[in-house]
Formats: sequence, structure tokens, C-alpha cells
Amino acid sequence: MFRRPGYGQAYKNMQLINLHTHQTSASGSTQILNVFAQDLSPDEPDFLFSVGLHPWHIGKVNLEECFEAIDRLAAQKNMLAVGECGLDRSVLVDFALQEWCFKRQILIANNHRKPLIIHCVRTYSDLMKLKKESKSGLPWIIHGYQGNWETTSSLNKHDFYFSVGEQLLKDESKHDIFRSIPIERLFLETDDRKTSIDEIYSLATQILKIDENELSRIIASNFKTIFGEDHLQV
Ligand SMILES: [Zn+2]
Repeated sequence: MFRRPGYGQAYKNMQLINLHTHQTSASGSTQILNVFAQDLSPDEPDFLFSVGLHPWHIGKVNLEECFEAIDRLAAQKNMLAVGECGLDRSVLVDFALQEWCFKRQILIANNHRKPLIIHCVRTYSDLMKLKKESKSGLPWIIHGYQGNWETTSSLNKHDFYFSVGEQLLKDESKHDIFRSIPIERLFLETDDRKTSIDEIYSLATQILKIDENELSRIIASNFKTIFGEDHLQV
């Protein structure tokens, strides 16, 4: 059978995109490193990153300094998104204050035309309401996604994107939910876990019964749709 030389190799080297991680990786994959606004150093990062005020940190940091830092960094091309930021009903932080902080970051994202990477715990309906109110046409990506089937369907109607990590992939009872996420709205991530991005892709491949090269090609295309071509090291 005729095979173009190098064809297999090119696909084998395809980048596995990691949408959200807290660790710099040695593998050279394309990844968005999460930086907390209060941890920003005066040196401007030269890697791909996102920066946001996490709802867990409200009350422990100077809010205005955080917003100022996010706004300043958002002017940089390699800051790909505002986040992680969002809403969380499992913590004691005042919910109205969480919403206020999140809205400030939605405004910064809109002003700089950046997508949002969102932390969302038991607040899916609040999130859909806020997206509608903000009239933001920019991509909103829920990271560490673990919603149920109905939530997935509603979020999909509201044009959300989904980034999935090991919590959902390693829970067999949630595999049907994973399969219900439209593949053109899907990303994969390692978050703050030790599992490698290679392992995450391999788990996703098994659940979706899809070839790994095909899956990485689709996710690279989703990444290009949201962030443009320039950042892909393929
Ligand atoms: Zn995270």
C-alpha cells in the first residue's frame, strides 16, 4: 500500500492541547498556564497563560490590585484568557461579592476581547443568566466541567465551551455526559492534578471510541477557532 513518507510521523507529533493547567509542563505541549492575579510577578510572562481572581481567594487579597493586574496583563497577546474566575456555592465567600468580582472580570474580558476560563460549582444557572445579561459574544469556557446531562444540554444552547479533566473522565457513571458534549465545543485539561495530558487524551479517546490523532486534530481546531492560529506550536 502506498504511504506518503513522514505522514504517520507528522500526526504522531501532533500537539496535545492542555486548556488549563497549574503546572509548567516539560512535554512542550501547547498549554494555558493558570496564574492567580495576586501571584503575578512584575516580569511579564513569555508563555501562554490566563490570569484571574479565583472566587476562593476573595477576602484574602486586595481586589482592586488584582483587577488592575488582570487588566494590565490582558493587553498582552500571550495572555489568552481571563480566568480562572467564576462562582462557587460550596465556599463561604459571600455570593453577592463573588458575583461582583466575576462581573468586573467579565468587563475586563470584554474590553480586551478575551475569552473567559470559568470555575463553576453549583452555579450553572447563575452563569447562564450572567452570560445572557452581559451580551458577551466571546467564548466562555467552563473548566473542570462535571455537570449533569440536562446542564450540558442547557449550557450548549447558551454557547458555552467545556474543558474536561480527570474528575469526569475517571468516573464511569459520567461517561455518557462526556459523550453528550458536542466535540466542537470540547477541550481537555490537567488542571492542578498530577495526571499527564497524554493520559487525559488517552482516557477521552477510549470513552469516545475515536482515534487519538483525530481527537487531537479536532481539539486543535477548536483551539484555533477561539484563540487563533498564532499560538499553536504544531
Ligand atoms: Zn484550576
